[in-house]
Amino acid sequence: MEWTDTALVLRVGRFRETDLWLRLLSCHRGVFSAFAFGGSRSRRRFCGCLDLLNTVSCRVKSTRNGSYLALQEGVLIRGPRRLRSDWRRLGIAMNCARFLETLGVTREGASAAFALLEDVLELMEGESSPHPLFPLFFRLRLASEQGFAPTLDKCGICGTRITAPGRFIVNEGELRCQNCHTTRGRYIVDIPGRALDVLRIVQQESPALWNADGLSLAERRCCARVIDEFVQYHLGIAWEEGRFRRI
Ligand SMILES: [Zn+2]
Repeated sequence: MEWTDTALVLRVGRFRETDLWLRLLSCHRGVFSAFAFGGSRSRRRFCGCLDLLNTVSCRVKSTRNGSYLALQEGVLIRGPRRLRSDWRRLGIAMNCARFLETLGVTREGASAAFALLEDVLELMEGESSPHPLFPLFFRLRLASEQGFAPTLDKCGICGTRITAPGRFIVNEGELRCQNCHTTRGRYIVDIPGRALDVLRIVQQESPALWNADGLSLAERRCCARVIDEFVQYHLGIAWEEGRFRRI
């Protein structure tokens, strides 16, 4: 079987002298692995486009017994420039890409995940300085789009709209209003109103609007804790010692 799709390069590894192994995020098929035989040499078939975070139009073929995919041809659509020389921005973009790869993306979620990562890469090329919490915000947004959306606008029990501070129940993935407060359980985080506003923006708006500059240190820590605990509990992914780990 052979198909062509637009894909983002998430990871590149070399095996044997001229062959490459890649992880890609396809616009229609989600995350997949493929070999590119002769990938580090063949300018005719790959035009030197198999670099990290490049967007590539690729032609892919599965082997006769279907045991692996092989990249037949790649054409560069666009590649980041600023990221290649700005280590901080590259670190943020790679952290987002690694999280996406660890979570995995199904066919159903592929186009949303692809558009989100493209938005992130476009933002990193621009002038605005990404907030230090950006990688965490990305985790919340991607999780929300891939079917793990915490409810951050109303009480999970009575449905009352919550605008002020809310009590977040991590294991339920939802807020409680003052009337339905629960005091038991380990997984409780009280979220100040302004932090809640920022988390809602992250869930709904473009990455260009994700900003925590107006928050106090305590409010930022609260955002980080909510996202971190939510992702660990519901997606089983922890960020430890510089890498994502399935727990
Ligand atoms: Zn309630």
